[in-house]
This record gives sequence, structure tokens and C-alpha cells, in this order.
Amino acid sequence: MSKLDWLRDELRLLREQGLYVTIRRLQSQQGPWVVVDGKRVLNMCSNNYLGLAAHPKIKEAAIRAILDYGVGAGAVRTIAGTMELHMVLEEKLAKFKRREAAITFQSGYNANLGALGALGWNRKDLIFISEELNHASIIDGIRLSGAPKVVYKHLDMQDLRRRLEEAKDYKIKVIVTDGVFSMDGDLAPLPEIVELAEEYNAIVYVDDAHGEGVLGDHGRGIVDYYKLHEKVDFEMGTLSKAFGVIGGYVAGNADAIEYLRQRGRPFLFSSAMNPPDVAAAIAAVEILEESDELIRKLWENTRILQKGLRDHGFDLGNTKHPITPVMLYDEKLTQEFSRRLFDEYSIFAQAIVYPTVPKGKARIRLEPSAAHSEEDIKYVVDSFVELGRKISFLK
Ligand SMILES: *Cc1c(COP(=O)(O)O)cnc(C)c1O
Repeated sequence: MSKLDWLRDELRLLREQGLYVTIRRLQSQQGPWVVVDGKRVLNMCSNNYLGLAAHPKIKEAAIRAILDYGVGAGAVRTIAGTMELHMVLEEKLAKFKRREAAITFQSGYNANLGALGALGWNRKDLIFISEELNHASIIDGIRLSGAPKVVYKHLDMQDLRRRLEEAKDYKIKVIVTDGVFSMDGDLAPLPEIVELAEEYNAIVYVDDAHGEGVLGDHGRGIVDYYKLHEKVDFEMGTLSKAFGVIGGYVAGNADAIEYLRQRGRPFLFSSAMNPPDVAAAIAAVEILEESDELIRKLWENTRILQKGLRDHGFDLGNTKHPITPVMLYDEKLTQEFSRRLFDEYSIFAQAIVYPTVPKGKARIRLEPSAAHSEEDIKYVVDSFVELGRKISFLK
């Protein structure tokens, strides 16, 4: 008996329940086709929506930054880690998002930890009112703050109103929601959320990780898509999805952002983003500002993929976004489907199972990108249909 035996037992249990996640080894750069575990496969599970992760302009910007600034920032932002590059990126992001100011973090996860943690820090008079399907980083950020939280049901505005009513005695109420729900591709009803927020004098915080680079004018995100710039107080985003790099940020009113600079824990206690990443992110924003061609291509691929699958009877839930959840529900079936797509069709599409989604809601999440050709997308549809028939849940 070893004192770590219980960990092996836990792993065995995961395997038995079909909840064990196989982590594949990527041996090439991100792109529409990648080499995974020695095999060239069509990549349908990256958040690299616009193909920017290996874009020549962005690579070049990163290389130039290494030559000029080196590879590491050397310290946390408040001590000696804030380089001019960080400030340039923050100004660019603020302008891109049409907000007064922005603060960057090392990742989107850290941005939510930093911002939500700071807002609720030591406050007994603040309550978070959080969407049921919010991303784990929101849940963790609220936990870090120590402030109380209530959860409202997914997209349910009557339930949100009930929670706001119950929270009336709190001086500060913060509604927190994903803009695009990352496992389903459905959208938060922001216009209605903002109306309720006005009625109850609540702050609105939106996580736009999957909105930017995809929705709104030139990919400015879901708040721009709904034209609600003045009504949403905090727009959190990531630089690791459509932007193709790594990092996170929060944009909003100047005082609010300054407060996060003073109180955001990952900002204060974890080193700054690396210079090549910052330079790459700047280049990504510039590419989006200049042209929306990649975004249009992304949406064209999305249309072909989703129409093709739906026409053949696949259930894609309520997606309004390139995120394409092919709902198979059963965990083991989903794992098998993903494995056979890889082995028999050279398609890389991960099974998404509990705890990432609720039990019994397993799916294969497809993510088309602007870098895929129309042929690539049609091949995915044809393969799903053929494999569906082989496994015989499709007629
Ligand atoms: C991916 C994601 C994050 C985290 O972003 P990273 O930059 O990968 O840390 C936060 N929120 C949502 C909704 C996400 O999908």
C-alpha cells in the first residue's frame, strides 16, 4: 500500500466511466492540418478561429520583439515587468474594443481571476450573480474573491430577475456571464441582461473569449455585435483564441481598469506576459483592424459545416457561432466516435465529456477556422455521415 494508491484508483474510475481524457501530442504548428501522434490529420478542435496562430506577420512580430526585448519580461508588472510593449498593447486593445482603457493578464483564465477577484475582494456588500454555464475561470475568480454568489439558470431572464430581486439588499450587484458559451456556441441575451441590470442598478461583466475575432465589426466581440458599449461595464477577453497568441485582458472605464491594476492578484503576483507574445498580440489586433476578410471566411466555413451536418440529421443544439457541438449525449459513444474519426478518417476532433459538460451531455465539439478550405469542411461532413451510419445511430 502506498499513500498515493487512491490516485491510481481515481484514474481507473475515470477510465471505467468513459471520462478519461486522452491527451494527444501535437507535432506541428497550429493550422487546418496538423501532425498529431505521428499522423497528419484535419484539425477541427482548435480555438485558432482565424488561423492567426501561425500567421507570417504575427510570427515576424514575435521574432522582432525577441531581438529587441528578449524572451522574458523579468518581473511582475508592478515591479519592473511593465514594458512599453505592454502599454502599447493595452492602448490598442482599448481602442479596438472602443473602450477607455484595458489591462492585460498572462491568460484569459488569469484575467477572470484578477478582475473578479479584485471586484469582490473583502466586500461584504457585493454579490456576484453568475450564469449557470459560465466558464471555470469565472467560477474560480468569484471563489478567489470570497464574495457571495448566486447562480441563475442558463439564458433564463426570469430567473435572473428573481436573483436580482433576492440580492436587493446588497449595495453592489455584479452580473457575470459568458458572451458565447464555449461548449454550446449559444449567446447570452445581452440586451435583456443590460435592461435588467439598469433596473436593478447592477454591474455587467461579460467574458468575450469566443466572441472576439468572431462577432461584431471586425471581430470586436459580442458587446459590439449588440452595440452595447456604454452599457456593459467590463469586457473580459482572451488573446489565446481568435487572436492566436496567449494572454487575457479586461476593457472598460478608465477608473475601473485602474482599480484592477491596483488589486488584480495575477497582475500583482505573477510575472508579465512575455515580450514576443505581447508583440504578436499587437500584430493580431492590427490585422483585425485592417480587414475582416478572415472573419467572413470563418463564417462561410461555419455555414457549410453546420448546414451539412443538420441536413443529415445531426443535433447541433442551439449554436449561433462557429462552435459546433455535435451532440451524441453518451460518454462512451462520444469517445468512440472521436477515436474512430481520428483512426479511420484522419480527423482530429476531441470528445467533450463530464466534467467539462454535464453528465449525459457528451459531444464532439467542432471548430472550423478561416484557414480551412471548403473541401476540408465538406470532408468533415461526409465523414461524420459515413461514421454515423457505421456506428448505426444514423439511418
Ligand atoms: C478559453 C476561455 C477562457 C480562458 O482563456 P485562456 O486565455 O485560455 O486562459 C476564459 N473564458 C472562456 C469563456 C473561455 O472559453
